[in-house]
Formats: sequence, C-alpha cells, structure tokens
Amino acid sequence: MKKKYAKPDLKEFKKIVQKKKEEILSDLEHISDDTLRKSQKEASGDISGYTYHMADVATDNYDREFSLGLASSDRKSLYELNDALKRIEEGTFGVCDDCKSLITKVRLRAVPSARLCIKCQQKKEKK
Ligand SMILES: [Zn+2]
Repeated sequence: MKKKYAKPDLKEFKKIVQKKKEEILSDLEHISDDTLRKSQKEASGDISGYTYHMADVATDNYDREFSLGLASSDRKSLYELNDALKRIEEGTFGVCDDCKSLITKVRLRAVPSARLCIKCQQKKEKK
C-alpha cells in the first residue's frame, strides 16, 4: 500500500493551504491598488512639473519595481499553493516527490507547499 495521509489530515492541511492563499491574495490586492493609484496620479500629472519631480519619479519607479517583484514571488507561492490543493484532492499531498515517504506534519504546517521531505530537501540543497 502506498504511503499517504489520511483524510482528516488532508482536511487539516487544506485549511492551512487555503488560509495561506487568502493571505497572499489580500497582499496582492493591496499591491495592485497601490500600483494603480500611482499610475493614475502620473496619468493626471502635469508634464511641466516633470523636471522638478525627477527625484519623486525615481522613487516611484523603484517602489513599483519592488512591489511588482514582491507580487511575482507571491504569484509563485500562489501557484505552489494551488498545486498543493490539487495534491490534497488527489490524496498525494505530503508524499515526498523523491523518496515517496511521508513529509512530517511539522514541516507541512510550516511549508504546506513542500514537495520534498527534509532529508531530500537537504540533499538537493547540497548539490
Ligand atoms: Zn524524501
């Protein structure tokens, strides 16, 4: 018989994953609101004031790049969490991709999108 987590465990993990997903989604909403507001400000901005505001523009651009960078890492996490949800539905969640043993609950609670057990993760990082 293949190793896997029992239904009640999967249910618990599903809650954890969904909660993380909600956190990221609300983060993303904040970021896009912020970026949108800045674009609107620039669109309605007075071009004659441009040179006076060079420093501000640079800061704005920096902020935006930073926000977008953050958003893309959030998007990656979101993708991983969706993938975890899929594996929960399939019942393969919590099984190490490499050695096929069960990933500990402690690890899964901390990193619900983990696909490798600690041993395999460490082996991978050493390479
Ligand atoms: Zn493993």
